[in-house]
Amino acid sequence: MAAPSAARTNNRPGPLLAEYKRKRDFTKTAEPSAKSAKPHKQPIFVIQEHHARHLHYDLRLEADGVLKSWAVTKVPTTAPSIRRLAVRTEDHPLEYADFEGDIPEGQYGAGHVKTWDRGSYENLSGRPLPEALADGKVEVQLHGKKLKGRFALIRMAGDGRRENWLLIKMKDEHARSSPERKSKDPARLARANRTRSRILPAQRPVLASTLPFEFTNLDKVMFPEKGYTKGDVIRYYAAVAHLLLPHLRNRPITLERLPDGVRPSAPHFWQKHTPDYYPDWIPRISVVGADGTRVKYALVNDEPSLLYLVNQGTLTFHPWLSRVKDLDRPDFVLFDLDPGESAFTELIKIAKQLHRQLDVERTGNFVKTSGKAGLHVLVPWTRPGGYDDARSWAFSMARQVAKKLPDIATTERSKAARHGKAYIDVMQNARGHHVVPPYVLRAVPAATVSTPLKWNELTGRLNPNRFDLKTALRRFQRQNKDLMEGLLPREGYSR
Ligand code: MN
Repeated sequence: MAAPSAARTNNRPGPLLAEYKRKRDFTKTAEPSAKSAKPHKQPIFVIQEHHARHLHYDLRLEADGVLKSWAVTKVPTTAPSIRRLAVRTEDHPLEYADFEGDIPEGQYGAGHVKTWDRGSYENLSGRPLPEALADGKVEVQLHGKKLKGRFALIRMAGDGRRENWLLIKMKDEHARSSPERKSKDPARLARANRTRSRILPAQRPVLASTLPFEFTNLDKVMFPEKGYTKGDVIRYYAAVAHLLLPHLRNRPITLERLPDGVRPSAPHFWQKHTPDYYPDWIPRISVVGADGTRVKYALVNDEPSLLYLVNQGTLTFHPWLSRVKDLDRPDFVLFDLDPGESAFTELIKIAKQLHRQLDVERTGNFVKTSGKAGLHVLVPWTRPGGYDDARSWAFSMARQVAKKLPDIATTERSKAARHGKAYIDVMQNARGHHVVPPYVLRAVPAATVSTPLKWNELTGRLNPNRFDLKTALRRFQRQNKDLMEGLLPREGYSR
């Protein structure tokens, strides 16, 4: 792309091509200034090879008297198995289709531009192109020299600053078969088929199977005690993505990465900062911490980002309690019930007492296993105030419970002062802290999952270790709904 900011500001309301003009100084660049040009009878497309800081391919489709534009990060292909990232950029004037030459140093998009392909196109989206664009699903038939046949452009969930799309060749007579299929080497073919058959179940729940990367090392054992492989972990996350993503969306997230699995002395990273080499279609949010350092958190807003990070060895996602549009205000409150040395049955008593009390307060309340030894009770935060207010309120609730059950519950922060009693912890309700969301795997040998429960499931028979990567998944598929749906503001569920 010409510059990272190039793609961030399309679709702003305002005069036609205002952004195109604002970015360019036409006394310095030979690019066409935006005058009105006549639309073509048959709309045209053009792909311009652009040797900017990074070589990319600018795809432009004529619609509404302008060229709707995307920067495709690698050379477009006619193989349906390969998906290209296409970052939406500002509308360009129609005359831009004929532009070739050098954008001078110091100017926006400096570097050489030449035509890579062009021709006419047909809109197969079933409605006018601007509407299809707004919906994030465009289908066109290209009549170019290099690119022919049907292509889809699919928008992925973004970070609000730029739109990431995928450019995909659809299967038709112009599609090139994938490299594997051409191979005559039987061993290689068998290998490719094996990989494909293993990946397929994992990919099936992924919308339209639009993954712009390939999974690696699917046979690696991640949970030796149970024999679960990386393929099992990926399949799990692919299957629960629709339940988990609403709890992650638009929150800074710390990644708990164990690339070599859960085994003693294997690497175990807590990763906040997103490395530059991670793909640029994973949105980042830059946050300044209490100590003044800037951290670029990954946002996990869509299935491709989720599964890419799982493929990088992430076992658990730890989101903030607040979202990017207001990082100082949590939208839920967490009561973390830690059994200490007490029995799980006592933890259940405490959770139920808290539940009764929250019902009296007329606030929604939800319970889940932590995925380890504890229970989490979560409450939407709808009162005025930010983290400090939320934490004070939670602490007063916790203290009331401890007063009612003084023999088994405490709010003492110091371990020595708890005397082995169960601890009701509300200190995680703070800016910069993160929590274990529902549906994540935990990095423990038993491969257990933080599992939402109905309140009436809190009985002496409840065994939280029962919910692991395989059994919890069957439970979620049976329920086929998020028991914690009411926890999040409605917009948390928009897809
Ligand atoms: Mn460009």
